Amino acid sequence: MADPAECSIKVMCRFRPLNAAEVDRGDRYIPKFQAEETVVIGGKPYVFDRVFQSNTTQEQVYNACAQRIVKDVLEGYNGTIFAYGQTSSGKTHTMEGNLHDTDCMGIIPRIVQDIFNYIYSMDENLEFHIKVISNLYTDISVPLISVSKTNLSVHEDKNRVPYVKGCTERFVCSPEEVMDTIDEGKSNRHVAVTNMNEHSSRSHSIFLINVKQENTQTEQKLSGKLYLVDLAGSEKVSKTGAEGAVLDEAKNINKSLSSLGNVISALAEGSTYVPYRDSKMTRILQDSLGGNCRTTIVICCSPSSYNEAETKSTLMFGQRAK
Ligand code: ADP
Ligand code: MG
Repeated sequence: MADPAECSIKVMCRFRPLNAAEVDRGDRYIPKFQAEETVVIGGKPYVFDRVFQSNTTQEQVYNACAQRIVKDVLEGYNGTIFAYGQTSSGKTHTMEGNLHDTDCMGIIPRIVQDIFNYIYSMDENLEFHIKVISNLYTDISVPLISVSKTNLSVHEDKNRVPYVKGCTERFVCSPEEVMDTIDEGKSNRHVAVTNMNEHSSRSHSIFLINVKQENTQTEQKLSGKLYLVDLAGSEKVSKTGAEGAVLDEAKNINKSLSSLGNVISALAEGSTYVPYRDSKMTRILQDSLGGNCRTTIVICCSPSSYNEAETKSTLMFGQRAK
C-alpha cells in the first residue's frame, strides 16, 4: 500500500554516454558522481533522489523510476512520469527505448508488460479494462493520431476531469497491441511532420495508460491512470535559430515547460496555489500530478563539455522540484 506521508515527487537524473560525434570532436566527459544521489558539474554538486551514471541499464532505470508507480496505479492511484532534458539527451531512449527488444526496452514497454503480467496473475473474479491513449501532442499545430486533426483543445467533462477532444483512444488486450498503437502513432506523426515541412521537430509526447478493475463478486472497483510524458527538448530558443511559425511554436513549448516547472515547484513547496491552468499540458495532467498522485521526473543529461550550459540549466530544473 502506498504511504501517503511519503513525498509524492521523485526526481531522478540520468546521464547518457558520450556519443561518437562528441568523442570525435574531443569533448570532455564532465560529470563526477558521488554516491548514488549526487552529481558534480564544474565543482557544483546537484543532489537528486537518485543519479544514474552513463552505464546504467534500462532495467535498472525502470526498477528505480517506475516499478513502484506501476504498483500504485494498480492499487488505484494516478501518476505521471516525465523525461526532461535538451534534444538528444536520452529522453526517448529512457521513456521508450527500443519497443521490441527485451534488453533495450525503455520505461513505457516495461510498464505495459508489468501491468499485463499482473493482470494475467490475478484471479478470474477480477475484470480489467485497459485503455491507452498514445501520442497526444500538445502545444503544437501538427495533428495527432489522424493527420487531419489540428489544434486539439482541452475540455473538462462533467466531473471537471480534463480530456483532449479529438484524439484517438482504444481498448487493448495484450502488450503487443499497446506497442502496435505506439508504432502507429509514431508513423502517423512522422507523416504529419513530413507533410508540414519539418514544421515541428520539437513537441511533447504524452502516453496515457488507464487501468480499471472490477471484482465481479464484490463489485469493488478501482481505477488508476498513468501519464508517461516525453517532453519537448528544453534547449533555449535562441540557440535553435528558429523564425516565424517555428519560432512561435518554440516559444509555446518553452512556455509550457516553464509552466510545468512552476506547477512542480509549487507542489514541491506545498503551496496552496498550484498554477495548473497556465498551460494545456498542466491542465491535462492536473488530476495526475500532486496530491495523492505519484510523480517521477527523470532529468536527462548529456555528459559532454560542449553541452555544459544546457546540462546545468536542466539540472536546475530538476532541483526546483526538490
Ligand atoms: P532525446 O529524446 O532526448 O532527443 P534520444 O533518446 O533520442 O534523445 O537519444 C539520442 C541518442 O542517444 C539516441 O541515438 C539514443 O539511442 C542514444 N542514447 C540516449 N541515451 C542513451 C543511453 N543511456 N545509453 C546509450 N545510448 C543512449
Ligand atoms: Mg526524443
